[in-house]
Amino acid sequence: MGLKNSYPLAKKSIDNPHTIVEVNGIKIGGKDLAIIAGPCAVESEEQLFTIGAFLAEKGIKILRGGAYKPRTSPYSFQGLKEDGLKLLKSVAQKHDMAIITEVMDLSLLDTVYPYTDILQIGARNMKNYHFLKELGKTDKPILLKRGMDATLEEWLLAAEYILMGGNKQVILCERGIRTFDHTTRNTMDIAAIPLIKHLSHLPIIADPSQATGNRDIVNSMALAAIAAGADGLMIEVHNNPEAALSDGPQSLRFDQFSDLLNKLKLMGTLNGKEIPDFQLKTQFN
Ligand code: PEP
Ligand code: MN
Repeated sequence: MGLKNSYPLAKKSIDNPHTIVEVNGIKIGGKDLAIIAGPCAVESEEQLFTIGAFLAEKGIKILRGGAYKPRTSPYSFQGLKEDGLKLLKSVAQKHDMAIITEVMDLSLLDTVYPYTDILQIGARNMKNYHFLKELGKTDKPILLKRGMDATLEEWLLAAEYILMGGNKQVILCERGIRTFDHTTRNTMDIAAIPLIKHLSHLPIIADPSQATGNRDIVNSMALAAIAAGADGLMIEVHNNPEAALSDGPQSLRFDQFSDLLNKLKLMGTLNGKEIPDFQLKTQFN
């Protein structure tokens, strides 16, 4: 913790207490609680339009969905690629949503860039320093996932690579780290959230979907992250998780996502954040 000087651009200071990244009217790191939601992967027109309509009805303003997927096995579904990007664009345009999608490597940046509002950099790329340097030259917000074996210092130094290039719109995302216990897919490091808030001016959100791998505990961890001071959440939601081509076990069903929004609303204003006025009119409420 005495290493704050190693990342001068990412560190918190009196002159730079917090950065706000504004996306589609949502002030991430500011007064808003940012909720990003959508499927792990874009799978089909029917899937994405169904999920998009549900989320839009709930008041969600930022849609997630992978078009290029970093899968452990090369035999697993790799994503719809540019067709997936096109589907994201049409659903987002229909519902006035912003898009976040992963850029898996530098060779895909030019392809993904025009479709997305936020460039998602995956956990597996957090230490891809040449890539991070190139991302620093872009002018769109960047969501930097924590590497699954990264210390907080390594994570902030990765952010520093991007900031050095001139792109100041970096959002951090705690998505769980590898530990000895495989009961959960990863171990969600809740302490990282207040620690990052202490060390850095950058906004931080939490992804309890990748962190747990288990839809039955995603909501508890989401609420814990917000209580710990997170600026927002990224949540995987699917219309038919059992049939999902990627990360089905950790994807919330619609009723579970509605339940999360209701619970967030009950929390009221927390850590100075206004819980957006989510619509509460579905059959599940
Ligand atoms: C994802 O968000 O679907 C994903 C692959 O995330 P991570 O890079 O955190 O594993
Ligand atoms: Mn996923």
